[in-house]
Amino acid sequence: METAYERIAKNLKGKPAKYSRFTRFNQHKLQPHDRRAHMCVRCNRTEAHIGIHGLSYCRECFREVAKDLGFRKYGKEA
Ligand SMILES: [Zn+2]
Repeated sequence: METAYERIAKNLKGKPAKYSRFTRFNQHKLQPHDRRAHMCVRCNRTEAHIGIHGLSYCRECFREVAKDLGFRKYGKEA
């Protein structure tokens, strides 16, 4: 689904002066609560984001990469 911003920008494509003004003053900034602000850097998934220690992985990528990053699994090893 296109956002209101995308719809208006599309309509202004034929009017260069208005389009440049619109994009300059109405650019959407990603807010901290936005879904797209928390994307996995490996697979672009937005669910189950792990942001602790400055990581930015989803849970599945974290499982695959964690050992290389130096994380250790405590308790019973399978
Ligand atoms: Zn991922």
